[in-house]
Amino acid sequence: MLHGRQYFNNDIKYVSMTRHKCPHCANILKTVKVSKVVNSNSPEAKDFDFDFSDITIKGDVKFIWKEFECPECRAHFTVDELKKIEGVYIESPKVDKKQNIINYIIFSIIGILILLIISFIK
Ligand SMILES: [Zn+2]
Repeated sequence: MLHGRQYFNNDIKYVSMTRHKCPHCANILKTVKVSKVVNSNSPEAKDFDFDFSDITIKGDVKFIWKEFECPECRAHFTVDELKKIEGVYIESPKVDKKQNIINYIIFSIIGILILLIISFIK
């Protein structure tokens, strides 16, 4: 018996605003509705949100969300998988690179200062 129905939109802007291409055959992916009944006492319940505004539902809940499917090769991707493939999270390594350059400059300056101090002592 179903106790509730939960729609969750994983990043609706990402899903609907951009046309996503299949990494295998470059066809435009279509969005498909995926649903799953999850029991709040089952081990997989930790991956799902059983809070409906201010109440928590116990028992079987039907979760409905969107995923991508290729009409050509039938490949299937979750939103997170496709984001990874498309490199949507590329911003963070860029920041790390910048930080590395800053660290390099700071260490260089410290090195030069130490050399200067040594030469002054001599
Ligand atoms: Zn494909």
